Amino acid sequence: MNDFMEKYKDRIFYPEGEGSTLSKYGLQIKDGWLDLIDRCAAEICEIDKSGKIRFSQIKEKFGGLRFYTDNSLADMELWLKVREVISKYEKESYSICEICGNPGEVRNTRKPTVTCIEHSDMGK
Ligand SMILES: [Zn+2]
Repeated sequence: MNDFMEKYKDRIFYPEGEGSTLSKYGLQIKDGWLDLIDRCAAEICEIDKSGKIRFSQIKEKFGGLRFYTDNSLADMELWLKVREVISKYEKESYSICEICGNPGEVRNTRKPTVTCIEHSDMGK
């Protein structure tokens, strides 16, 4: 599928017995955002070298990226820094085609989707 899960396997939240949405179902996004979430994850790891922030769900909702983390081990200062990083990438997702990764915009179909012109009919 992709190497995100392998690359960040030590960062994926895995509560004992149940797992997280990410550990159970993997990424809930299309391929166009793989580079975006990789950059987001790398920046989080850069800020949080000790691994206190764990990734719990990565999905698309209402056309935008949602990157959820478990922060139960993190202090407020770390969490605020990471939250800022995540919001930056969540905002950026609204301008990246989720199919191919080229510049895109939110198409107002019944289900909002960010696509480039070429993929504009695929989000319907
Ligand atoms: Zn596209």
